[in-house]
Amino acid sequence: MSPAAKAFSDWNLDSRIADAISSKGWENPTEIQVGSIPVARQGRDVVGQARTGSGKTAAFGIPIIEAASASGEPQAIILCPTRELAVQVAEELTWLQGESGLSIQTVYGGTDIEKQAKELQSGSDIIVGTPGRVIDMSKRGHLNLTEISHFCLDEADRMLDMGFFPDVLWIFEQMPAREQTLLFSATFPQEVLDAAEEFMNEPVYVMSDDLEVEVPEIDQFAVRIGRSNKLWVLGRLIANMSDDDQMLIFTNTKRMVELLEDRLGKFGMSATGMHGDKAQNRREKILDSLKEGKTKIVVATDVAARGIDVDGITYVINYDLPDDTESYVHRIGRTGRMGRSGQAWSLVSKEDMAALDKIANTWNLDIPYVEAPELPEGMTRDPVRKREDWSEVTDPFGMVSVTLEVGSGKATKRSLADWIVGEARIPEIALGEIQMSDASSTVQIHVEKASYVIDVIKKREFDGLALNPSIVEF
Ligand code: AMP
Repeated sequence: MSPAAKAFSDWNLDSRIADAISSKGWENPTEIQVGSIPVARQGRDVVGQARTGSGKTAAFGIPIIEAASASGEPQAIILCPTRELAVQVAEELTWLQGESGLSIQTVYGGTDIEKQAKELQSGSDIIVGTPGRVIDMSKRGHLNLTEISHFCLDEADRMLDMGFFPDVLWIFEQMPAREQTLLFSATFPQEVLDAAEEFMNEPVYVMSDDLEVEVPEIDQFAVRIGRSNKLWVLGRLIANMSDDDQMLIFTNTKRMVELLEDRLGKFGMSATGMHGDKAQNRREKILDSLKEGKTKIVVATDVAARGIDVDGITYVINYDLPDDTESYVHRIGRTGRMGRSGQAWSLVSKEDMAALDKIANTWNLDIPYVEAPELPEGMTRDPVRKREDWSEVTDPFGMVSVTLEVGSGKATKRSLADWIVGEARIPEIALGEIQMSDASSTVQIHVEKASYVIDVIKKREFDGLALNPSIVEF
């Protein structure tokens, strides 16, 4: 790797870029820029590990602009996963080029294709686009990929998440003149590494060792609750929102987004669902409404939430815990922005507990388990009623463990089992294992009979003893 430059002025950049940078007030390159720009300027392929906020746009933008000339023929393509990112990248490149006179154009879906085609035909040097529309344009003959010499894949991992990889690979294959490829990604799933291996030429890897993800400083809580009562907790959280609060609720599937939107609506809590199948203009409307503060509650999948960059969000709810630990950090990063206070709540069922542990350990987070919040003052009824939920205390074989205050001093396993079967008139098979110490016993009872058997035990005495049954929580 080349020696680190301390200042942009050390690099002898094209004067038009240098002027643009200095009038913007930038002096020192960021870490990813220090790692990538010198090697990319030498024409090497680069795989860079970088997140939004790291300065990655200029890390690939500066070498791409330097290598381009104002010919009106597309020489460079930058692919982005979302329209929002494409617009942002094109804007940054546009000011970075200063007086270079390059035509930098965006190509993305959800807008009039003919209009975009006309703009392309009027001449363009650098294209910033989303994969689907780039393919469309190329197939319709509006965009010639055969002369592209510089190619950049931005946020490769998100492209993969969003199912764009087949499109990206197709585009790779249409560029016989490709001389340089730059790939930036926050994380490196195997598919991204494989693509780098297959399509890139001995790339220089610019990785930041500490894979650091900035964990926002917001309050994080977890509520231990079974699936069937997650809606009850959510109702309480919503009940506690003030007029200025906005909430983003995460679920893991599109289907769940729809279900939850629907369920909340039925309980009189208006929420808007957002997922990848919704049309682009619909998603934009939702975003605008969120930004204006009109929409208070959005339910989204991780992928859909990526376009959501709204400062007013004060609550992030993990209705489903994410499948990977990093998504958790991305999710909670949606709140507490711009120094505002925010809180993240995770609704954790028995099955989710290991995942929450992993998240907390991976990022060294303090996520205390707390009770569901109380109803706000003056509110007497829960928006959603709490249901009896045995699923959380039932083992995989359908057994609930109950502790009884009688031990081997006063009973045997056999006498206790006989007593329960006799008093409650249940088949013996409804009882599982019994463990007994001196002073207490744990009896397994099938979930179907558990409620009833516990009631019976509470009402009767075993040899003059009240057994005070209590359910063993996991
Ligand atoms: P990015 O990660 O490319 O989205 O950049 C994050 C933000 O940092 C953008 O607003 C950039 O304009 C800004 N930025 C990038 N590089 C620098 C730099 N070397 N000095 C100051 N600001 C920068």
